[in-house]
Amino acid sequence: MEWVAAYRERLARGELPVQSAAKPGDLVAQLPAAAPEQGESFEAILGDLDRLILPGITHWQHPRFFGYFPSGGSLASVLGDMVSTGLGVIGLNWQASPALTELEQVMTDWLRDLLGLPSGFSGVIQDTASVASLIALICARERASDYSAERVGLQGTEAPLVVYVSAQAHSSIEKAALLAGFGRQHVHAIPVDAEFRMQVEALAAAVAADRAAGLRPCAIVATTGTTATTAMDPIAPLAALAQREGIWLHVDGAMGGLAMLLPECRHYWQGIEGADSIVVNPHKWMTVAFDCSLYLVRDPEHLVRVMSTRPSYLQTPMDAQVRNYRDWGIPLGRRFRALKIWLTLREQGMETIRARLRRDMANARWLAAQVDGAAPWRRIAPVTLQTVCVRHEPPGLEGAALDRHTRRWAQAINDSGVAYLTPAMVDDRWMVRVSIGIESTEARHVEALWQTMRAAADASAREG
Ligand SMILES: *Cc1c(COP(=O)(O)O)cnc(C)c1O
Repeated sequence: MEWVAAYRERLARGELPVQSAAKPGDLVAQLPAAAPEQGESFEAILGDLDRLILPGITHWQHPRFFGYFPSGGSLASVLGDMVSTGLGVIGLNWQASPALTELEQVMTDWLRDLLGLPSGFSGVIQDTASVASLIALICARERASDYSAERVGLQGTEAPLVVYVSAQAHSSIEKAALLAGFGRQHVHAIPVDAEFRMQVEALAAAVAADRAAGLRPCAIVATTGTTATTAMDPIAPLAALAQREGIWLHVDGAMGGLAMLLPECRHYWQGIEGADSIVVNPHKWMTVAFDCSLYLVRDPEHLVRVMSTRPSYLQTPMDAQVRNYRDWGIPLGRRFRALKIWLTLREQGMETIRARLRRDMANARWLAAQVDGAAPWRRIAPVTLQTVCVRHEPPGLEGAALDRHTRRWAQAINDSGVAYLTPAMVDDRWMVRVSIGIESTEARHVEALWQTMRAAADASAREG
């Protein structure tokens, strides 16, 4: 615990480069080929954390970390994780540790209410959104196939089931669809509009065409906050279409869904009560430590029917009165993850959490305004939340040369250790994402980043 506290202080003082300077194989070369036969002193072990491990860390909790997405790391949630590990209990069923189940029940209800969702939704904590979305697509498959898994499973001869995603959906959705047995050719990518939102008319046309071709539309996956640009798929018309057509609607709000903690963002979730399942990751922007993914469903009985098994050694007399969360997901063993939500909410309070989300969104709008006012910089997507997508487009640079420039200035910043950004592709061109929202990131860090970006882009442009 002291080591973690000292580490966080070093991050705050800006002593460590954000990106690890490690080369492939650096750590492997420094570790012995075999495990020790005799136990070692704790000083030696702690010393090696500093000497061997820290050089191989890219510091996600660094105030100048603007990569990927903000990863939760509140110290209260770190303590919650430590208590969970220290208790060393595993939630196989309610009886195996009643508090583990009941705190999870209350925390998922709290979060549901905080996100502005109707009380008809019930929640469970999964490890990641990837797993939650896999569960969602398996549940969609089972509903559309009248529980085929209980009979012939994927070997049935009925017409193929189709999943619809936007072309901007997260890679975990395609993976989930493949693992759930739909097959790549039955994952239909729907085009997006100029703001990277799924086009509802195009989706409706695809559904009609598929029905006419003898396929069975099964699930729509809408994204609240897409990976590249935090675009918001329009939930209300998608929910209406899903309802009309009898299609499962899963909403992937892994990162962007957390914005619904702010009432002023809830317009993005108009119509959300029509969703069948929703995933939101408190371990992203809400500062709860990884891993902690909230999966909410409208019909928990269906979820339990699809996910449950009842071997004799897990049955208890209380089963009719309690939740057995192993039947709400894939793993049998479950960590006490609700503790880190509970500690974070109690230590910080929602006022602090909401203020921080608003701070991050204001910082993103500030950066967007600088970009908008500083040609040849160009902002390439609307700033819906806390992510700003930019390109520096010096006159005369196009196509592959522009891509080279974009990746070069971003890499120069990352390699310098001063800040960390993620280059990504949209519309087959490279751009750079600035994702704001680490707990310790203040306006001055974003201002410093903007200076760094301008200097790096100018240096790269001079190289041609
Ligand atoms: C981060 C993210 C995911 C993946 O989350 P994991 O919890 O790492 O599986 C999926 N979808 C979206 C939109 C995301 O932002």
